[in-house]
Amino acid sequence: MKCDIMVVGAGFAGSVIAERLASAGRSVIVIDKRTHVGGNAFDEYDRAGVLIHRYGPHIFHTNAQHVLDYLSRFTGWRFYEHKVLAFVEGTLYPMPINQNTINWLYGLSLDEAGVVAFLERVREKRNPVHSSEDIVLNRVGADLCDTFFRNYTRKQWGLDLAQLSPIVAGRIPVRTNTDDRYFTDTYQNMPGDGFTAMFTRMLDHPNIRLELGVHFHDVRPRVVTRAIFYTGPIDEYFGFCYGHLPYRSLRFEHQHLSGKAQYQTVGTVNYPNDFEFTRITEFKYLTGQVHCGTSIVREYPQSNGDPYYPVLTAQNQELYLKYRMLAERESNVYFIGRLAEYKYYNMDQVVAAALKAANLYLQEQERA
Ligand code: FAD
Ligand code: UDP
Repeated sequence: MKCDIMVVGAGFAGSVIAERLASAGRSVIVIDKRTHVGGNAFDEYDRAGVLIHRYGPHIFHTNAQHVLDYLSRFTGWRFYEHKVLAFVEGTLYPMPINQNTINWLYGLSLDEAGVVAFLERVREKRNPVHSSEDIVLNRVGADLCDTFFRNYTRKQWGLDLAQLSPIVAGRIPVRTNTDDRYFTDTYQNMPGDGFTAMFTRMLDHPNIRLELGVHFHDVRPRVVTRAIFYTGPIDEYFGFCYGHLPYRSLRFEHQHLSGKAQYQTVGTVNYPNDFEFTRITEFKYLTGQVHCGTSIVREYPQSNGDPYYPVLTAQNQELYLKYRMLAERESNVYFIGRLAEYKYYNMDQVVAAALKAANLYLQEQERA
C-alpha cells in the first residue's frame, strides 16, 4: 500500500498530526496497536453507563489559546476546575499546599503574609535546585515535604525525591492564598462529549485511513510512505539497542458504586502516606455527568506494564539523548509525543508540539 504519511499512534500527538496533514491534502494512514483512538486520554462508558477514563483521570488545562482554538474545532467544552485533597492521618487537606493546608495542619490562623513568613522560616534554601527534593525543600521545608511529597513520590516512581528531576515535583505549586484549584491555567475545560468523541471527529477525514489493533512492526513492511510520524516509545523504535528506557506504569482499579451518587467531596483525593494506590478519582466531577451511581478509579504505580510516564532521572535523560541522536539521523521519521520525546508532557503541550511538527513538515515540503 502507498500513502504520503504514516502516523504511529492515535493519541493526541498522532491524531493532531494526522488531521493537520490530511487537511493539507496528504493521504495519511494512522495506526495504533490499541483497538481504540485517543491514546491514554481515551474515555468510554462503563457497564453502569458512567463516562470513565480507562487510563486514569485526564483533565484538560492550558494557557495556550491556539491549542484551545484548534481543539475547539472538534469539541465543545464544559468548564471544570479540578480540586484535589490529600488524606493525611484521617484528615483531608487542600493540595497543592495553600494557606488552609498550613493552618489546618498546624492549628494556625495565618493570613497570606503570615503564610509567606511561615514558609520563609521553614523552607530549606537550595541553590542550585538539582532534584525534586531540592525544589520541595526549597519551597516548603522538611515537615511539609515529608507529609505530602516524600512518600507519594516513592510510591508513584519507586524512587526517592532526590533521584528525580525538579520537573517532577515542581509541577505542584505552593500557594500562600486560599486558591484550592489544582491548576491555575487560563483555560480549564473538559471536552463536552468526552475525549474519544473529540478524537473520532478529528480523525474523521477522507484523507485519513485508520487501522486499529495493529503494531508498527507488522504494518511497516506493507506500507510505502514519504514520512513517518512516530509517537510510541523511542527505545522500542530502535529495538532497545541501548537498553530499555524506563517508563513508569500504573494499574488502574476501576469500580462502580451503584446506588451511591457521590463517593468523595472532590474530583481526586491523594493518599501520600497510606495504601498502595496514590489517588482516587471520581469521574462524575470531571465530566459533570448526572447518574444515580458513581464510578471511581484507584491508581497503583508499578514498573512493568504499559508505558505511561517517562522517569526523569539524570541517568535516564542521558540514555534518552543517545536515542535522540539516533532519531536525528533517521531520515523522514519524526518522533513526537510523551513517549517518543521522553517528556513529562501534559495533553496541551503534546497538542502544541504536534501542531508545530506538522507545520514544520509542511513548510519543509513547500521549500523542497
Ligand atoms: P499516548 O497517548 O501514549 O499515545 C501513543 C499511542 O501510540 C498509544 O495509543 C499507543 O498504543 C500507540 N503506540 C505506541 N507504540 C506503538 C506501536 N509500536 N505500534 C502501534 N501503536 C503504538 N495530561 C493532562 O494534560 N492532564 C491530565 O489530567 C493528565 N492526566 C494523566 C493521567 C495519567 C494516569 C497519565 C498516564 C497521563 C496523564 N496526562 C494528563 C498526560 C497525557 O496522557 C499525555 O500528555 C497525552 O495523552 C500524550 O499523548 P501522546 O499522543 O504523546 O501519547
Ligand atoms: N506529588 C506528591 N504529592 C502529591 C501530588 C504530587 O508528592 O500529593 C509529586 C509526585 O512526585 C508526583 C508529582 O508531584 O508524581 C507530579 O504530580 P501530578 O499530580 O502532576 O502527577 P500526574 O497527574 O502527572 O500523575
